[in-house]
Amino acid sequence: MRAQRKAIYPGTFDPITNGHIDIVRRATAIFDQVIVAVTTNPAKSPLFTVEERLEMARQALADIDNAVVDRFEGLLVDYARRVGAVAVIRGLRAVSDFEMEFQMALVNRKLYPDLVTVFLMPNEKYTYLNSTVVKEVARFGGNVSCFVPEVVERKLKERFGT
Ligand code: ADP
Repeated sequence: MRAQRKAIYPGTFDPITNGHIDIVRRATAIFDQVIVAVTTNPAKSPLFTVEERLEMARQALADIDNAVVDRFEGLLVDYARRVGAVAVIRGLRAVSDFEMEFQMALVNRKLYPDLVTVFLMPNEKYTYLNSTVVKEVARFGGNVSCFVPEVVERKLKERFGT
């Protein structure tokens, strides 16, 4: 029997959105296991703690059998080696994502030639969606129920008191 083919889907997930979940569903149809890897690197000064982001992602993905949620810090390629992943999943929403993603994929390939980066496109209705937009709408009391799962909507309301 061949080894399980694991893929990592890394990101800040601050918080997880329906766009992220769409990508996870597509990735789990291709790979045996998808690890949603929440970065603890503080570069983006996230709204939610790592623990909160992990918990929201776990609840949001509970119905997908072959998706698991984990945390990582440091270099993605080191984490990939450690867990034995063969691929990195990234979402491409628009051309604007491309340059940065292309650069990152090439750097990762230089560092770890056996690790393949796979780009997936979400459903068109999620192409304008990112975590920053969701936080901005929620901060001012707007309805985010079509952008995020229920657990995240609740958590945003709690955080902003809206
Ligand atoms: P963001 O780009 O929203 O700050 P992350 O750092 O958590 O989010 O992104 C992790 C990955 O998910 C990236 O590859 C990003 O392009 C992708 N992604 C984020 N939002 C979406 C979306 N709405 N549709 C598809 N992919 C997305």
